[in-house]
Amino acid sequence: MQAIVTQNIRFPETREEFKKLFPDEEASLRFLFNKRWPKGFVCSYCNWLNAEQLPAKTITCSHCGHPTSITTNTVMHGTKKSLSQWLICIWWFTATEGGHSAKDLQRLLKLSSYQTAWTWLQKLRMAMSVSDNRQCRDTVEISSDTISLGGETRAKAPILAAAEIILPAGITGRIKMKSIGTLNSKSVGNFLNEHILPGSSLLIPDSEPFTTGELESFITVRSATVDRSRQIIKSFEIWLNKIHRGGVVAKHLQLYLDEFCFRSNAAMLPDSEAIFNLLLTGVIGNKPLSYKSLTSEAAKG
Ligand SMILES: [Zn+2]
Repeated sequence: MQAIVTQNIRFPETREEFKKLFPDEEASLRFLFNKRWPKGFVCSYCNWLNAEQLPAKTITCSHCGHPTSITTNTVMHGTKKSLSQWLICIWWFTATEGGHSAKDLQRLLKLSSYQTAWTWLQKLRMAMSVSDNRQCRDTVEISSDTISLGGETRAKAPILAAAEIILPAGITGRIKMKSIGTLNSKSVGNFLNEHILPGSSLLIPDSEPFTTGELESFITVRSATVDRSRQIIKSFEIWLNKIHRGGVVAKHLQLYLDEFCFRSNAAMLPDSEAIFNLLLTGVIGNKPLSYKSLTSEAAKG
């Protein structure tokens, strides 16, 4: 992966250092352009490669005439924010281990609207779920538990969790979690298909619905104690209450689970630059995303 900085320049540790590295919109555009199209501009419509194309916010394809914005088909699609603001936001969101609330972002960038900050962070969480998409593999523990959500209803939300066990040390590797409406063999089967590499060894509870799911693709070992993945769900609940103070409702829960898993998995990367680059792949990843859950809640960021 192309490094953010080259020889003799270390990855910025403060906001001031970051702003020195990207002093204006032009520098941010050049950086994002080269990150998105490292071998040259590729038309989003006809896939024509133009290696001579210079960085620009909107490029008209020399082959088919179709215009492509640097934000087309990314989580930045339709954004009113500058590329510089996006970059500083990505840096800020990955620069600390714990995470941030929308109020933190509102203060950081002096945004007048809380909804704008909230929507922006939801988009970054979507990018986290896109970039942190490798399946758990080898030996994986699976379990479920419920967490208490805030708000007037104090709803209980069922969660499925997977945790890789790295042998022989027995330490926890990658984790994935999913918010499910109901715990049953179907939701367990969907979770396994989405997040666990076939052929992996599963350590699963010796109880329903884990005894009836689609398990033929895996080697299963039943266990009365699956504390590791259950503990991860509890850790998520504590994190959610600490950072967001009970302000998350069930329909948005998955993006917060994705952020928690991203942060846990990214902690295994060598340094903060690698974490920044991982999130960036999700931000500029050429993958159409649904904004339905966002646009119904808040104005576009
Ligand atoms: Zn084209």
